Amino acid sequence: MSIASNIESIREQMTLAALSAGRKIEDIRLVGVTKTVDAQAAAEVMAAGVTDLGENRVQSFLDKYEVLGDRPTWHLIGHLQTNKVKYIVGKVSLIHSVDSVHLAEAISERAEKEGVVQDILLQFNISGEESKSGKGADEALRFSESVSALSGVRVRGLMTMAPLLAEEKEIREIFAGLRSLSETIKAESFEGFTMEHLSMGMSGDFPAAIREGATLIRVGSALFR
Ligand SMILES: *Cc1c(COP(=O)(O)O)cnc(C)c1O
Repeated sequence: MSIASNIESIREQMTLAALSAGRKIEDIRLVGVTKTVDAQAAAEVMAAGVTDLGENRVQSFLDKYEVLGDRPTWHLIGHLQTNKVKYIVGKVSLIHSVDSVHLAEAISERAEKEGVVQDILLQFNISGEESKSGKGADEALRFSESVSALSGVRVRGLMTMAPLLAEEKEIREIFAGLRSLSETIKAESFEGFTMEHLSMGMSGDFPAAIREGATLIRVGSALFR
């Protein structure tokens, strides 16, 4: 299968899921996760119409950034160390994986130094799996309040990852949990929070995520099989 036909099939599934949830397809963006392929293949993804690209590691982002520059809309989706923040602030459009106040502070400080405001998402671990990054839902308001004091970041929404091997029902509950957390945070009207995005759903579970309100789905392996 070619990348273009894989994308066509993903778009069809997105449309069906959106229809079944009574949602508009324009409200859902496909982020092509190119972490397993080179810049050439990432360029093919773009040529097939997917201009939002996601990388999970800073180095693999920088390698592709050297080739593709600002043409894609870049998303950093993986765990980020504070000492690497300086390489990406101002270059990536959205950092999905902000899972601590410490990291948010480092991003904000760097953004102020560069005279930009960096868009971020707060990552939550809804499933409670120990192997996953993200704040627990019980810490959401305290975490949000601390981040809201930082003027170099703007919080566009929330992100989560569901367990890879779980029942559909459990996965739906996790996605619904993120949506409900988002409503709770929205109700507080924190300074610097716009909260229009829910980043959830990957190759194996994006239709379920769309039914639960995802606005950004992060799809990798389904592009390249
Ligand atoms: C790799 C990755 C994805 C994409 O996963 P696929 O199952 O390949 O679609 C999405 N989100 C994050 C954070 C990832 O690291």
